[in-house]
Amino acid sequence: MAPTPGTLALDFDGVICDGLIEYFQTAWRAYCQLFEPDRTAPPAGLAERFYPLRPVVESGWEMPILIFALRSGYGDGDILRNWSQIAPELTADAELDRAQVAATVDGVRDRWIKADLDDWLSQHRFYPGVVERMAQAQESGTTLYIVSTKEGRFIRQLLSRAGLDLPRAQILGKEVKRPKYETLRLLKADQPQPLWFIEDRLQALVEASEQADLQDVALFLADWGYNVADDQHRAEKSDRLHLLTLDTFSKGSSEWFG
Ligand SMILES: [Mg+2]
Repeated sequence: MAPTPGTLALDFDGVICDGLIEYFQTAWRAYCQLFEPDRTAPPAGLAERFYPLRPVVESGWEMPILIFALRSGYGDGDILRNWSQIAPELTADAELDRAQVAATVDGVRDRWIKADLDDWLSQHRFYPGVVERMAQAQESGTTLYIVSTKEGRFIRQLLSRAGLDLPRAQILGKEVKRPKYETLRLLKADQPQPLWFIEDRLQALVEASEQADLQDVALFLADWGYNVADDQHRAEKSDRLHLLTLDTFSKGSSEWFG
């Protein structure tokens, strides 16, 4: 495979941008609304426990439930291993349903954005060197696309603050409402080849790897994002996926296949 992508598609949260601070704050506010309406500030150390557990969360409704689990005495190891059982059990025990919890999370975030967009945007950090590497790729003729489940307008504003202005059409956010492998299929059909995709969620890469017509798309797991050692190990063992470190990413695409 050529050492340079014609098109480089990147996930946003967990690849380009670290949104953990915003994520915890939103989760905490939603948790308080649902479980402890009289509380305001989170207890010391809670955020620090939440951050490394972030990879277990796949959907918004799980955010306050993860905090509920920590407040209910679940251990970190138990959560990492058994979250897919713990989350629905805890939700049912609390007599809540997913849609209600998800709506609470969305409501918290929407109100925050409406009340103080600048404050909300400022809770996001860029991983060191990533935007610079993207700018270099763009300069050397690679077409960049963002493929994310965050809303495109926020991605555009965040990138612009970091000094990278991408055309609206190259930011495919939550609003496109389709699985990432479908987006890759569209990019493969009409963008410069080869197509490479960097993502931090193993499952999204596995789904892409299962598409017969996407076998020539190079798939990279960003080990600096929201994934755990087991995910990284699986990517490393796979003959279809490639594990990428931030250091290797920064060195340029000729190094990415190891
Ligand atoms: Mg991600």
